[in-house]
Amino acid sequence: VSRRPLVAANWKMHGTVTSVQAYLEGLVERVAIAGPEVVVCPPFTLLPAAALIATGSAVAVGAQNCHWEENGAFTGEVAPAMLAELGVRWVIVGHSERRQYFGESDATAGARARAAQHAGLDVIFCVGETLAQREAGETLAVLERQSTALEGLDPAHLALAYEPVWAIGTGRTATTAQAQEAHVALRRRAAELLGGAAAAGLRILYGGSVKPDNAAALLAEADVDGALVGGASLDLEGFCAIILGALGERRGAKE
Ligand code: PEP
Repeated sequence: VSRRPLVAANWKMHGTVTSVQAYLEGLVERVAIAGPEVVVCPPFTLLPAAALIATGSAVAVGAQNCHWEENGAFTGEVAPAMLAELGVRWVIVGHSERRQYFGESDATAGARARAAQHAGLDVIFCVGETLAQREAGETLAVLERQSTALEGLDPAHLALAYEPVWAIGTGRTATTAQAQEAHVALRRRAAELLGGAAAAGLRILYGGSVKPDNAAALLAEADVDGALVGGASLDLEGFCAIILGALGERRGAKE
């Protein structure tokens, strides 16, 4: 099974129309069709400008969240079809900041992911343990519980992101061995939920303080198939360096 690396930028609550235009124009020029798949996820308000530039290029645009209903009285929410209409291809679901600050649960994350796929979007589904959970030896149990939401999803339109909460925005990165161990466990879990063939083809991204200087080593691990990059993705040069790191020794695909 060959897995094309996937590198996604999570801009979180950063950026302006002007900055996203300049960034995407630069990125589109530099990203090759043959290399890693590249996705940029800016805030909702910047999606139309981003999608306009990315359409027809090797760069795809993603959102950072979506609701699980198609429409209705859900003030402040955005439905997946509204994103698809803009030319958005991907959506991040279940990010730890959603879980930590906005009441996201395994159940709501699962509902969002199903609705997103139903609307034709590809999903980056995030899982990961807190520091307290890691120190209590609960990491694999937490990952198993959180990934239960994958059941019933279409693996052809899915990527999983392992994001240890203690490594997000902290400058602390999981070691390559810690990342590989978690990814192997997640792939085993995906096999139970989605079937062996689907799990073998599933891209599992690492996220948590990925930077130009650690990306290549993390991505060289056999089961690390890409990166979800927060802080370091705001800088175009840094993000391009991470994409280059994802090219790795095998130039584009893992066996
Ligand atoms: C993220 O937001 O998904 C993330 C991994 O952030 P950072 O790279 O800043 O740790």
